[in-house]
Amino acid sequence: MTHPTPAVHDRIQSLPSAELPAYVYDLGALRDHAATVRGALPERVELYYAAKANPEPEILTALGPCVDGYEVSSGGELAHVARAVPGRPLALGGPGKTPDELIAALEEGVERFHVESEYELRMLAELARRVAPGRRVAVLPRVNLPVADGSLAGSSLAMGGRPTPFGMDPARAEPVIRQLAYGTYPQLELRGVHAHLASGLEAADQLAVAESVVSWATGLGVPLGEVNVGGGMHVDYGDPERRFDWAAYGNGLARLTEPHPELTLRIEPGRALTAYCGWYATEVLDVKPSHGEEFAVVRGGTHHLRTPATKGHDQPCSVLPVDTWAHPWPRPAAESERVTLAGQLCTPKDVLARAVPAAGLRAGDRVAFALAGAYAWNISHHDFLMHPRPGFHFLDSAG
Ligand SMILES: *Cc1c(COP(=O)(O)O)cnc(C)c1O
Repeated sequence: MTHPTPAVHDRIQSLPSAELPAYVYDLGALRDHAATVRGALPERVELYYAAKANPEPEILTALGPCVDGYEVSSGGELAHVARAVPGRPLALGGPGKTPDELIAALEEGVERFHVESEYELRMLAELARRVAPGRRVAVLPRVNLPVADGSLAGSSLAMGGRPTPFGMDPARAEPVIRQLAYGTYPQLELRGVHAHLASGLEAADQLAVAESVVSWATGLGVPLGEVNVGGGMHVDYGDPERRFDWAAYGNGLARLTEPHPELTLRIEPGRALTAYCGWYATEVLDVKPSHGEEFAVVRGGTHHLRTPATKGHDQPCSVLPVDTWAHPWPRPAAESERVTLAGQLCTPKDVLARAVPAAGLRAGDRVAFALAGAYAWNISHHDFLMHPRPGFHFLDSAG
């Protein structure tokens, strides 16, 4: 069980049933968390937010004071983020960039391009010559490095260290980086190297990955201004109170940069910044036993909060009891200790959390699902079954 912040709790309990489900974000809590993260990082480490984790404009704005910029991964994100937080530095990453996306990014004045392949590099050089004549466009080739044995073992998603569509093999990246350094592409400036190799790593494993990236990049012997070691900091859905060890990570990064005073390190987390500030709140519609187990069906489901279905976990939640019952028909209640919380979709995959300790759970009680601030609404298949969309509430009490 994990409890919503007081502001979120009050909002959930004050909403009429017809306004559930709802996403409720605590922007004060987000600001506090982002300030803690920023405070744990050494000065020479820049913090970009990977917008794809949650691109709601209120979220992007609340993060503003604590981040150095935003990483965007498509033309759509680029246009959206440039509108939401005008004037802030943007880095464009992501595989399969189209010529139109690159042109839009050049016109938008994107600060940095994370280049995924040699083909993309040549395309960018030619487009830069045409769209931004006289300007040198900063690029960071993305490299898919092998990493120390075992350091990706805890990872939930590996983008590197194995065959993937992301970045360049080190043996291909090295000559490309040298060409850039020697001025083969006069339109492009080699700013540094980018690597985002895995997600779901704890601080020690993240540091091991960062160390491999920095040592590979600095070992090339070409002048580099920046090394971007990516995002992917672990969020523990099984234990929402336990957060990534930013203090240990910050100290480790400080040690890593010490021998390289010329180098700026950059990280670009998404999930570990915004997961904690969001709640998906709903109410129980029905409760019933089925073949020895008990199920509660809630308003909404995985078409709004797909995270537990994609990651195969139980979304942490807490029950907010509601004592009033306005209907003339009897109110169903759970008879056993544990209840599986399912949504309204006609598929057995629509489960938000299994065997939740919720003795006595009744129709009309409310449930707040935690850690719904990242890869939640924006990765969900909203239109499946055509249920109404949730409400959105951005609470700013602590701000
Ligand atoms: C998705 C992504 C991130 C952020 O990953 P999180 O797991 O949300 O921290 C950072 N960099 C790149 C290139 C990404 O694709």
